Amino acid sequence: MAEGRNQTGAEILLAGVSKHYPKSIALDDVSLQVEPGEFMTFLGPSGSGKTTTLNLIAGFTDLTAGYVEIDGKRMDDVPVHKRDLGIVFQHYALFPHLSVLDNVTFPLRQRKVAKQEAEARARAALLTAGLSGYEDRAPKELSGGQQQRVALARALVFEPKVLLLDEPLGALDKQLRERLQLELRRVHREVGRTFVFVTHDQEEALTLSDRIAVFNNGRIEQVGTSKQLYETPASLFVAGFIGESTKVLSDDGRTITVVRPEHGELFSRDTEVGAGRPAIPVSIRQAIYLGSGWKYEVVLPDGSTGVVRGPRALDWLSGDEQSAWLSWDPARASVFDAEPGATADAVAA
Ligand code: ADP
Ligand code: MG
Repeated sequence: MAEGRNQTGAEILLAGVSKHYPKSIALDDVSLQVEPGEFMTFLGPSGSGKTTTLNLIAGFTDLTAGYVEIDGKRMDDVPVHKRDLGIVFQHYALFPHLSVLDNVTFPLRQRKVAKQEAEARARAALLTAGLSGYEDRAPKELSGGQQQRVALARALVFEPKVLLLDEPLGALDKQLRERLQLELRRVHREVGRTFVFVTHDQEEALTLSDRIAVFNNGRIEQVGTSKQLYETPASLFVAGFIGESTKVLSDDGRTITVVRPEHGELFSRDTEVGAGRPAIPVSIRQAIYLGSGWKYEVVLPDGSTGVVRGPRALDWLSGDEQSAWLSWDPARASVFDAEPGATADAVAA
């Protein structure tokens, strides 16, 4: 990439942004600050408002309330093509009749960059995207993963301060997706721009992001690093969406305690549980050897399932469906109000 221009990414600010449709609220009062050069991921289930938010940043959609700033400048009347954004979608919209090279030079030619310079920059972008040597091919002569690399090169080629990526790896198989995740991290470090990346896959979010915004029902429930979201989830939804856990309903049904697998401990008798430690009776359904340790699937009194991990095998464990006691360190568990009618299983689903 050429030196001396746009060396950093832009800051993005969403201030009380809402998007209402006649019959639904796609986004409800969302505020968020994305730091310059940050890899920010929007994570959430389908329909939670991730794409709507990306479209509002890009300017594809009008907002109902609030405003968007990029690098401190309000975007109210700034059209999409003046926002200095590169955009990559799940379904690569490459021009089928143009070669790879011409697809990537296209945004530069639109910006009146001379042919020779445009081609040199396109080759550099293809190198960054890991696709050198494919310049003369047609898109249909490439695999899905390679086509996404072309789309990435095309989004990077004019060196935008912000890259918006909406489930760009969603259509690829798992192995390829994991490889491209690592590539995308490398590219992000190399180009130093702000990336806003959408996914519904929590593992993908944990792998890639500096910070993650967790979307649910048109709202952001929590923004934080992977570690913050995992260790101190702000809501039952976040706790259930990120990582594994066991959810224990209190006796009076008012609270749910979320125990991470590595913070649970299994005992054969309740007399072995440390003084002052909480414990509930469970049935161990399965013991799974993971190489690095053991994983136990347990069934709780309310019928929900949980998971406990440990470094060693339980020497007292003899067969399937064995009863045991699950205990945990209360200081490392998260407690939430149970929603009326919510069971631990409904929460886990
Ligand atoms: P996600 O990307 O997280 O899957 P979206 O942002 O696409 O979710 O959608 C959020 C909500 O807004 C959904 O309930 C969806 O049905 C609704 N929605 C999105 N676009 C429109 C539209 N053009 N008209 C009406 N409702 C829409
Ligand atoms: Mg979407």
